[in-house]
Amino acid sequence: MSFLEMENVSVTLGDTAVLEKISMRVEEGEFVSILGPSGAGKSTLFRLLTGGLPLQGGRISFGGEPLAARKNGFAFMPQRDALMPWRRIIDNLTLGLEVQGTRRREARAKVMPLLADFGLEGFADHYPAQLSGGMRQRAALLRTVVLGRPMQLLDEPFGALDALTRIQMQRWFEARWQKARWTSLLVTHDIREAVALSDRIYVLSPRPARVIAEFAVPIPRP
Ligand code: ADP
Ligand code: ADP
Repeated sequence: MSFLEMENVSVTLGDTAVLEKISMRVEEGEFVSILGPSGAGKSTLFRLLTGGLPLQGGRISFGGEPLAARKNGFAFMPQRDALMPWRRIIDNLTLGLEVQGTRRREARAKVMPLLADFGLEGFADHYPAQLSGGMRQRAALLRTVVLGRPMQLLDEPFGALDALTRIQMQRWFEARWQKARWTSLLVTHDIREAVALSDRIYVLSPRPARVIAEFAVPIPRP
């Protein structure tokens, strides 16, 4: 059984069929992308996974159990506004851990050694507005992965960046991900991004979203 399995998942919002019989799986340590146009239902799928929307039809299992039985399975990185502008970077990074019950001092001790790896060394006491867009996205990613959840959900993490920064970030992320192999599900409408980062890709049709293609990216990974 796969780590995450969706089987014939359908969602109707109002009169609109948004997701239609979506079946997908993600293995542990795998990076999977969902590629689809805006409005295809990618956010709806994430809301379903994170418990923001009840399951209407189909089946979702996570770690061998029904999804509903699992708490705190996912860490979610939004496309933008992941950081609170009035908090310093370090306080943004420790907040999620503190909410999970980690003491402030321990949370700092956990985050500080990771700053360099994420290109944020020396910026712990800066405010988000003092960082470049790329640095803010790396901080948002660190904030997500430091929670240590079994799976990362990434909603167009580089979508709001300018083209050059986006390419730099994708390269950095690819290298960083190879080290950590966080089990990840990314949604994007950028086919290059999906191909560059993923082990496997699902392609969604627009309205209602159906899986119209699934393929493995034939790039050998170390
Ligand atoms: P994406 O994240 O891929 O851009 P969404 O999941 O946000 O797409 O939305 C998918 C589709 O569902 C859109 O076409 C949107 O118009 C429709 N939709 C979203 N919420 C509702 C709602 N509450 N009632 C009716 N349709 C909705
Ligand atoms: P990115 O590709 O992550 O957006 P930039 O090219 O904007 O990064 O920045 C590259 C480097 O410039 C950063 O790693 C950082 O050391 C430095 N830098 C960026 N913004 C600032 C700032 N506001 N103050 C000081 N140094 C900065």
